[in-house]
Amino acid sequence: MNAEIIAVGSELLLGQIANTNAQYISKQLAQLGINVYFHTAVGDNPARLKEAIEVAESRSNLLVFTGGLGPTKDDLTKETIAGHLGKELVFDEAALHSIEQYFVRSKRQMTENNKKQALVLEGSRILANDHGMAPGMFLEKGSRFYMLLPGPPKEMQPMFDAYGYVALQEKLTTKELIVSRVLRFFGIGESLLETEILDLIEKQSNPTIAPLAGEGEVTLRITCKHDSQEEAERLIDEAEKAIFERVGEFFYGYDDTTLAKELSKELGKHGLTISAAESLTGGLFQQEMTNIPGAGNVFSGGVVCYTNEVKQNVLSVKEETIANDGVVSEQCAIELAENVAKLIDTDIGISFTGVAGPDELEGHPVGTVYIGISIKGQPTTCEKLLLGGGRSANRSRSAKYGQFFLLK
Ligand code: ATP
Ligand code: MG
Repeated sequence: MNAEIIAVGSELLLGQIANTNAQYISKQLAQLGINVYFHTAVGDNPARLKEAIEVAESRSNLLVFTGGLGPTKDDLTKETIAGHLGKELVFDEAALHSIEQYFVRSKRQMTENNKKQALVLEGSRILANDHGMAPGMFLEKGSRFYMLLPGPPKEMQPMFDAYGYVALQEKLTTKELIVSRVLRFFGIGESLLETEILDLIEKQSNPTIAPLAGEGEVTLRITCKHDSQEEAERLIDEAEKAIFERVGEFFYGYDDTTLAKELSKELGKHGLTISAAESLTGGLFQQEMTNIPGAGNVFSGGVVCYTNEVKQNVLSVKEETIANDGVVSEQCAIELAENVAKLIDTDIGISFTGVAGPDELEGHPVGTVYIGISIKGQPTTCEKLLLGGGRSANRSRSAKYGQFFLLK
């Protein structure tokens, strides 16, 4: 079975909402082993919807619609499909009853157009709406299947999970699953990573390995088709192991995680607290840490020490350090990291000092960055970076490198 998801709603085309329904349904269909080849979005317009249906029928045998099942004039998905398939719309007694009951309970006047929501395509299987009024539908005609789901995600998702999924499963001849896992890497460029594992990418057909470009980081998705979940996981484990042998040192986490999330988890596991002294990053590291709910257990606070005065007066960087080494230096990064940990009383202090750009500083080229890391009971270390981006990229990459070094 290969599927096309048709999201109906002008608000999608106006950019007012993102098509999260297509994303959700795609994930669920993948679990069923159904290939999704196309996502279509079309406005609340019967002629264009009909056109979309015709195109979809020419290339897919499962059409999943979301949106436009409601009571208002612009909700015309089922009317258009009925007209196209030559089907009548008939009242579904159960749906009508539950709509009437809803109005009795809420002591509101039921208007005639609300009844319209109980109209369903004749001969279709009803997918009950446990969180709203408009029922969904599943219909088989000729060699094709049509599924109609409501637009609001909080109605659509439970309907699909409870009724849509099984309706599709019953029609499947193969019980193949698609299992995938995303590996996240940092500190290695996409082209280098790809080169390192090119032969693996090329020789693998099940599972497949696909690089995905991300913001300042690289991800690989390993996808396996199999009728057994365990066997799929085992094959993915094997591919993962081969990848780790090549580029394992750059790996930091799975699926939807971020460097900051992993760092916060790791610090929590060891009961460690951290503070930051940020010059060129201006608080980016602290912002990312505080984005994580519950970050207060591991992240205490920090100082944005942009000017030399703040480095000296608040974080006690020695006058001779600034005079002799400069602020873009290993010595300055080390003092900042040690002193912020002391000032805020944390187990770890991290510091960022360097040249974000566009102009060079103290004779250092743009992209020169020193990251100091002071861990209680250990000698303070410093990492030097030479980044090649513009001001904004250099700042955000520095904050991420800091997280990455701490994880390693
Ligand atoms: P209602 O009974 O609420 O009118 P409906 O089935 O007619 O439901 P729409 O009117 O098309 O659905 O959309 C209702 C709301 O559902 C939209 O305003 C939007 O918030 C959400 N929605 C619709 N389509 C999508 C989509 N593809 N992805 C995410 N959200 C959506
Ligand atoms: Mg609507």
